[in-house]
Amino acid sequence: MQIAGEMIIGRSAFFGKEGTMKAVDPSRNTEIEPAFGLAGAADLQRACELAEQAFDVYRATGLEARAKFLETIADRIMDLGPALIERAMQESGLPQVRLEGERGRTCNQLRLFAKVVRDGRWQSATLDSALPERTPPRPDLRLRKIGLGPVAVFGASNFPLAFSVAGGDTASALAAGCPVVVKAHSAHLGTSELVGKAVARAAEECGMPEGVFSLLIGAGQTIGQELVAHPAIKAVGFTGSRAGGIALMRTAAARKEPIPVYAEMSSINPVFLLPGALDNPKLPQAFADSLTMGSGQFCTNPGMLVGLKSDKLDAFVAAVGGTIGAKPATTMLTPGIHKAYVTGVANLAGIAGVSQKAAGQGSDAPCTAQAFLYQVPASEFLSNPALEGEIFGPTSLLVVCDDEAQMLAVAEHVEGQLTSAVHATADDRALAAKLLPTLERKVGRILFNGFGTGVEVAHAMVHGGPFPSTSDTRTTSVGASAIDRFLRPVCYQDVPSYLLPESLADANPQNIPRVVNGELVWNS
Ligand code: NAP
Repeated sequence: MQIAGEMIIGRSAFFGKEGTMKAVDPSRNTEIEPAFGLAGAADLQRACELAEQAFDVYRATGLEARAKFLETIADRIMDLGPALIERAMQESGLPQVRLEGERGRTCNQLRLFAKVVRDGRWQSATLDSALPERTPPRPDLRLRKIGLGPVAVFGASNFPLAFSVAGGDTASALAAGCPVVVKAHSAHLGTSELVGKAVARAAEECGMPEGVFSLLIGAGQTIGQELVAHPAIKAVGFTGSRAGGIALMRTAAARKEPIPVYAEMSSINPVFLLPGALDNPKLPQAFADSLTMGSGQFCTNPGMLVGLKSDKLDAFVAAVGGTIGAKPATTMLTPGIHKAYVTGVANLAGIAGVSQKAAGQGSDAPCTAQAFLYQVPASEFLSNPALEGEIFGPTSLLVVCDDEAQMLAVAEHVEGQLTSAVHATADDRALAAKLLPTLERKVGRILFNGFGTGVEVAHAMVHGGPFPSTSDTRTTSVGASAIDRFLRPVCYQDVPSYLLPESLADANPQNIPRVVNGELVWNS
């Protein structure tokens, strides 16, 4: 399918008239054809108006129709074939295998949310019967959850498919009954157009209202900001930098009607190396593989190690030196991300007390990242906030603690994180048990003897965490519960039966699990 440089508003695909921009091939540092037309205020207004008009119609679609829509989006994405993968490779520098895997994950997410929609539990249908004889009498009360309204989605640079136009935010918002307006990431404009048109085709094929989906092309600072400020938009999904996420949070909070922003931002994902685990000869290789996977451009990248001073830790560091030394330099997603990486590494290396322990292979090719491991004493780490900043790429900092008390102090000191890993054996259980309560307060996902890279799309997954890893610690952006971000409860008191929504009708025509007078009833 030809890429035309077009955005999508409702049923129309067209070339924006407010200037142009091109995507960049980071492996060559050259622009890629074609040019993309940029959206202006009138385009934004039209997309938001259509989304607002679509909301009541779309949220009234039956569970089956909505689930089918999500599945059809997955089918239409697969129909794009190799052209999608080729364009995404060119725009992101990511390898074919990774992008094919990501496409599979994107479609699986859409299909998972189709199942979630059909299952109906997301509505939290809850009925309390009237008790007219009671003093005072209790009214008939029925609760269900409904969508918040049109959602603005900002695609992530590091997942051009799975966290972008038809990624987890879009899939969960559509599942919740919310129309979506996507602001395409400037790093993968062609990929965005291809996927956007697949979503639009699915919407038309499934008879969804115009405005259920739009894709805008423009700069974050203008069109992105205006989108979040638009009164029709009722929630925001974002993955990117802390600065970008905070800017959107401020805009959303300053509106006449403030709205929630679900921003996934920075995380260094501390990995605690307990003494028993250092006997595992496979650990250095496993760490180096996780650190360098995808050029280190994962939000769950192990950017920080924490260990206890010992000969065993020194041996681990020496072994990591060998494994990282064998890692080739790899292309980063964008020239901007590459520049930020090089600057971040240089700043870290220049901090007093920080020493380099391992270096991967360098390269003169454009936008390539060299992997590094640095080390610092815990006393320095605890006193210098600059050591805690995210370096987005394949660099990690080992924090060496004098004793267990200092390791616990480091765990207490770190900011909110998406993940933390503990490497331990049964011999380490006393220290592991002391770490756990602190980690529960600090992170969204605690894992043992593994690394956070590789986020399973499943019902029990949490990809979230306290600030600054996300803007709202109560939620997840991956997994079935991501739908909860775009829902709110409504209570119907003494509403006549002929006006009640299907999910709350006495006969339970949707045949969904409900809580009736405090008891879970699986179906009618
Ligand atoms: P970004 O600069 O935050 O951009 C993400 C999206 O938000 C883009 O669509 C961007 O628009 C838009 N945007 C940025 N600043 C904005 C603002 N002030 N107002 C409104 N919209 C704004 O992130 P990125 O380009 O993807 O990567 C840059 C850095 O983000 C990385 O170096 C890394 O530190 C971090 N990052 C973190 C994660 C994570 O999961 N933790 C993932 C990806 C990136 P444009 O397209 O116009 O730029």
